[in-house]
Amino acid sequence: MSQSKPKPKDAKRLVVLSGRGERAPGAVWLVGAGPGDPELLTIKALKVLQTADVVVHDGLVSEEILDLAPEAARRISVAKRKSRHSYAQGEINAMLVAFAQDGLTVVRLKGGDPFIFGRGGEELEACRAAGVECRIVPGVTAALAAAADAGAPLTHRGSAQAVTFVTGHASAGDEPNLDWEGLAKANQTVVIYMGVSTAAGISTRLMGAGRLGSTPALIVANASRANERRIVTTLAGLPAAAAEVAGPALLIVGEAMALAQAGAAEIVAHVEVRERGAMS
Ligand code: SAH
Repeated sequence: MSQSKPKPKDAKRLVVLSGRGERAPGAVWLVGAGPGDPELLTIKALKVLQTADVVVHDGLVSEEILDLAPEAARRISVAKRKSRHSYAQGEINAMLVAFAQDGLTVVRLKGGDPFIFGRGGEELEACRAAGVECRIVPGVTAALAAAADAGAPLTHRGSAQAVTFVTGHASAGDEPNLDWEGLAKANQTVVIYMGVSTAAGISTRLMGAGRLGSTPALIVANASRANERRIVTTLAGLPAAAAEVAGPALLIVGEAMALAQAGAAEIVAHVEVRERGAMS
């Protein structure tokens, strides 16, 4: 039996419980939960979370952070699931609007920052179209945590004059339509979100457009979490290195990644990747 989805009428029950009149206007807060470590939550995100009647969260938000919401707050996961029904973006938008129209304070909690590959813009537009107040609390996007943990700056005097965040996936599910020539220029950092499964294509494209295969690269999986893993590699070694990681991961390419530090386990992975690169 499929699990029933929350309906606005359920929300009304919560209104009664919280003792608020049904006509009191609710609001939607799009809150960035950061990359995972609860200490990377902003003070504002914490304060807003503590006022939530309903928390609608995706899969990247850790339990430790969800525990910071009031005990009475209803928690709804809209995580993408392989086996069960996943919520379509339109259903999430409608849910946020319906809860707010019922007078609830809705916290839409997203991994990282809501406006960096977080579909926050679509939720904002849905609220605006419905006349629902929508406010945004920025969060630490994964790239910032990954770079910080590796000790590799995203911009660096002399070797990284720009940083670009790109997606490794187009909405159709295949390769994104990016300005490969522009991204292939030296002395800039390219951070690829959602790029693990398309790492081979990205690496080929960048090298095809002229970026050196020896350009330093870094992969960080589960940045800021206890199970964080970093692999130091090169643009040419990116596909082999990407095959080693599990969980949410970023690919970062650029000369400044020469500063990236890996732990003991990751150095081994680095050597393996280089050996494989040398054989091919
Ligand atoms: N809004 C989020 C990004 C969501 S897109 C943000 O600002 O960080 C999902 C992608 O983000 C993942 O596929 C992965 O590439 C990246 N990501 C999210 N959390 C991560 C983490 N803790 N470590 C590494 N990459 C992460």
